[in-house]
Amino acid sequence: MEYLIRDSTVVTGSPDRLIWYKSAILTKNGTIQDIGETILLEEKYPSATRIEGEGKVIFPGLINCHTHLLATADKGILEDFGFPTTLKFPTTGRGLLDQEERNVFAKLACIEAIKSGTTTLLEISDDIEEYAQTLDATGLRVFLGENMNDIDNAKLREGLYEYSSHKREIAVGKASDLINNWHGKSNGRIKGFVAPHATETVSPQLLRASRDLAEKYELGYTIHLSQSYEEIEVVKRIRGVLPTHYLFDNEFLSNRLVAAHCRYVNSSEIALLGKKNTGISHNSAIGARRGAAAPVAELLSAGCSIGMGSDNMAEDMVEVMRAALFHERVRRNDEINPQPEDVLEWGTMGGAKTLGIADEVGSLEIGKKADLFMIDFKKAHLVPSLRIVSSFIHNGISSDVTDVMVDGEWVMQNSSIKNIDETKVIQQAEEIGHRVWNQLVKENPDVPFPINLPPAPL
Ligand SMILES: [Zn+2]
Repeated sequence: MEYLIRDSTVVTGSPDRLIWYKSAILTKNGTIQDIGETILLEEKYPSATRIEGEGKVIFPGLINCHTHLLATADKGILEDFGFPTTLKFPTTGRGLLDQEERNVFAKLACIEAIKSGTTTLLEISDDIEEYAQTLDATGLRVFLGENMNDIDNAKLREGLYEYSSHKREIAVGKASDLINNWHGKSNGRIKGFVAPHATETVSPQLLRASRDLAEKYELGYTIHLSQSYEEIEVVKRIRGVLPTHYLFDNEFLSNRLVAAHCRYVNSSEIALLGKKNTGISHNSAIGARRGAAAPVAELLSAGCSIGMGSDNMAEDMVEVMRAALFHERVRRNDEINPQPEDVLEWGTMGGAKTLGIADEVGSLEIGKKADLFMIDFKKAHLVPSLRIVSSFIHNGISSDVTDVMVDGEWVMQNSSIKNIDETKVIQQAEEIGHRVWNQLVKENPDVPFPINLPPAPL
């Protein structure tokens, strides 16, 4: 399809941070073919389908470098009990979902992602194969990372950190199958990723196997790093070093790694991450909920690329960007930096670099894939439009997003999601969420739970 979005404002997100006013953008066969004055482009492309962009602003699509879509089933509960959670249930609501229900929550999370301007996300979970088709059908650009660990759970219950070669083989086999089945599908819109879980749950052998898998398929790879004090304590005890040093010692750090969180890294760890130009997923909103902040300025100046992720329970990348600005200014005790343009860059080009797709997406430039979102700027909380990026980062909300395009195709138009039945999914998720959490509480009467669940879904 060929679309000409006319008479609009285009925030390109290019290295010179160019903004086109009263302009048009032409997309054809999935790519951005032209940007320029509306009158010129209308003459040049008479057969393109016209989309009215007056009063709207077009941004590069947001890139979520770290999420677990099904954790939306635990929304409203797990945000407030720390990590690892102080709730002592054997699992969570998410853990009780059956395959069909997992598909419902995958759709629910994708609705929220699309409605907040997300065009690309990296999903990390167990058994993604069960809902990979659903993710593909949303039209989003998706990286699939099958969660792998080789920790012996029976031994772990006795407090012992031992690792199982049998479990490792199964995990690597499942991850390979997912990559074989899905990598490159839908014109390359679906890609594989390699996702060993975390420094305390993954042995040196699984780190090596993960790198081998990533190299074999020429994929990026990711791990949770410096996510909790517990992780740091465990890795120090069993490996004798801090988590980042454990990864460095096992040749795991590289510019193809997406290190998620990095909340508590010290200066020696920052230096190692920078030296290897590691990509970071700065999960600002969940970090704030955990009372923790990644040292973004230091990681950037050390040589890391910064992308952003939503992680658990929410997919709203508009909120993630604003949380990053607020959080980093408080952490630096700085009234001026970062600037809104810096944060937008982390949510777009920074994310593209971190995921290794900066030559394809991340900015609105001729030749790149047509991944974009449009916001209605004629809102009380946004005007006057004197400095558009600042207005949006400081005051914008996800419901300002009206249209989202991925790979040249609309996945939302006029605030209506194209490929998912939004009303039905919300109704289903509300009912399932109540059922699984009630079931969890009922099946574990001895576990303290400081919440009175409502009597019924809304
Ligand atoms: Zn995570």
